[in-house]
Amino acid sequence: MIVNMSDSATEQQIDHIIQRIREAGFQPHVTRGTERTIVAAVGSNGRRHEIEALSVAPGVDTVVAIAQPFKLVSRQARPDSSVVDVGGIKIGGPEVVVIAGPCSVESREQLFETARGIKRAGATMLRGGAYKPRTSPYEFQGLGMEALKILREARDLTGLPVVTEVMSTEDVDLICEYADMLQVGARNMQNFALLRRLATINKPILLKRGPSATVKEWLLAAEYLLSGGNHQVVLCERGIKTFETGTRNTMDLAAVALAKELSHLPVIADPSHGTGKPSLIGMVSRAAIAVGADGLIIEVHRCPERALSDGAQSLDIPQFARVMHSLGDPLRPVLAVGERPTQA
Ligand code: PEP
Ligand code: MN
Repeated sequence: MIVNMSDSATEQQIDHIIQRIREAGFQPHVTRGTERTIVAAVGSNGRRHEIEALSVAPGVDTVVAIAQPFKLVSRQARPDSSVVDVGGIKIGGPEVVVIAGPCSVESREQLFETARGIKRAGATMLRGGAYKPRTSPYEFQGLGMEALKILREARDLTGLPVVTEVMSTEDVDLICEYADMLQVGARNMQNFALLRRLATINKPILLKRGPSATVKEWLLAAEYLLSGGNHQVVLCERGIKTFETGTRNTMDLAAVALAKELSHLPVIADPSHGTGKPSLIGMVSRAAIAVGADGLIIEVHRCPERALSDGAQSLDIPQFARVMHSLGDPLRPVLAVGERPTQA
């Protein structure tokens, strides 16, 4: 349930509503918007009729049910878009944020060269996997702790905040020491033990959509984080599984627009995993921005043919620079189909 306070409600009246929501067996969540304050009553064991009765309490405008199963994530609970601060970079504000870097951290030289290159091209955050979710146990699994150290050095060198994936609850504390943002990968979107743990930390989370998850399931996964206390959540569409085999996944751009409509959380797009094709990344990036994405996450490698993971979809640094250059020019295709990276 949502208690919409009137625009003239006093602090005392708001406090009274918070108190009454607690007495009715719900948890109160206050959102102070530009126009008015909203107090959401969230929980499964409260007495709804006591909240409904608050419509006649002083300072209350209306009491309405939250239509969606995801309560705190919904735009009804917070009409203003939220902005997530990652080491000084604001995701969800007026600027489109571009996060770039290799799929995996492979060496100090590889990450530093890539980090410098993407920074020169205009990216404002660095990505790099230390713990990799690989389909086969025989594929490169990531450098773990060593990669975390390299990521931190790259951040100190370039000033770019760093995002890296967390796959297990065991690694949360360690990764928090090294990264500015923790990524929940597509395969872990419904790892509820991990989500519950991440709800208790004071670090922003990048929550990727599961390859077979509906938008509702994705937003409910985010609800685990918000309801557990972590409101610093950015959603990421990275393509879903369909019958299409021409692209690695099917980039669901309507889901970006829908998530923005249903939720106040920032939404970014991952055209690298979404398409698996360098030639499509520029166009799909621009399309994502056109449907309202707050940012992009793009895989870039100093030499894609030597990459230990996802080389086939990675851009090299000059290609990434061209994609960056094209972002303001929505109609121009930037990379020729089948074009190869320049550096061997
Ligand atoms: C990645 O970002 O490299 C990755 C593994 O992403 P996803 O979880 O979307 O597959
Ligand atoms: Mn990858």
